[in-house]
Formats: sequence, C-alpha cells, structure tokens
Amino acid sequence: MAIPPEHRPLRINMVELLRQPGAERTSDATIDPVALDCVIAEGQSQPSGLVDVVVRAVAGTDDVEVHCHVSIPWAGECRRCLVPVSGTERVEIVERYLPAGSGHVAGSREDAEVIAVEGDQIDLVPVVRETIMIELPVAPLCSPECAGICPLCGADRNAAPCECSTEVRDDRWAALDQLRLDD
Ligand SMILES: [Zn+2]
Ligand SMILES: [Zn+2]
Repeated sequence: MAIPPEHRPLRINMVELLRQPGAERTSDATIDPVALDCVIAEGQSQPSGLVDVVVRAVAGTDDVEVHCHVSIPWAGECRRCLVPVSGTERVEIVERYLPAGSGHVAGSREDAEVIAVEGDQIDLVPVVRETIMIELPVAPLCSPECAGICPLCGADRNAAPCECSTEVRDDRWAALDQLRLDD
C-alpha cells in the first residue's frame, strides 16, 4: 500500500540511524485525523482540524528513542450547558523502537514500552492514531465553574441565575411548616 505523502515524515529509517549511535533525526508532519479512521467514543470530542506532529528520533546503541509532540485541535460541547467548546490538546509521547529479533525485545527492561520493528522503517502512524483517540477530551466543560442548564426550567444558569431549586426547597419546607401548624 502506498504511503500518503503527508505520512512520510512519520517514517524513520531505523537501520540508518542505528549505524550512528547518538545521531538525531527530526521531522514535522501535518496529518488529517479523518484519514486515520480514529474511533471516537460517545461523549468524546471530535478532531476539528489537522494534527501537527513534531518528531525527534535519537539513536542509542541498540534502540531508537522517538519523541513526538502532538497537537490535536478538538471540538465538542460542554457536558453541562451544551455550548460548543473547543481547544487544542498538546502531548508529548516517547517510545523506544528496536529491530525485531534483536534479542532485547523480550528482555527484562524496566521501561518495557519497547516496540519491535519488522523491516527497516519505524512507522509512527499507529502511535499518532492511538494518541489522538486517547487525548480527545471526554465530556469537556466550557469552564470549570459552568453552572449548566436547569433540569427543571431549562434555563441556562450561566446567563442568569435560576431560582428553581431554591423555590422547590422553599415549597417543601412551607408544606412541612403548614403540617406542623395543623398539628
Ligand atoms: Zn458549560
Ligand atoms: Zn430553573
């Protein structure tokens, strides 16, 4: 399958890098998340634009450490008042890659986040795809203080304070008071 041109910066020639321990390779990619077929959970925000990925790969003696700075624009709605909310999620992910069959993969490394690579090329697309799916905010808020919509009268309590809950409580107490008076 042909590699889309915009995904090429997410391919790293591991064999070449491992010939020069300490060598670094950097690249930038701009990815359309729609093309990655991300699975978005219910209540999760949607990607709202192109995802930027800045890659820095550093060769060790037997592995390659890859740092990806991923910026994910997203859009959703406030879980309390339903107004549109949006933002950009920025994360750094670090992965280590080893040639498959090099003997270190099944080893007893403490930092077991090691990915075995078949062939010469590290492909960062799966990691970027997974990062997008994990990082899209679930049930965001327009603000931590969002007062939400009144479940009784439907008023947006951010726009104007709503007295519903107070009134209900008052009525209940009033009825109780009445009862006591009747006794
Ligand atoms: Zn809100
Ligand atoms: Zn109300």
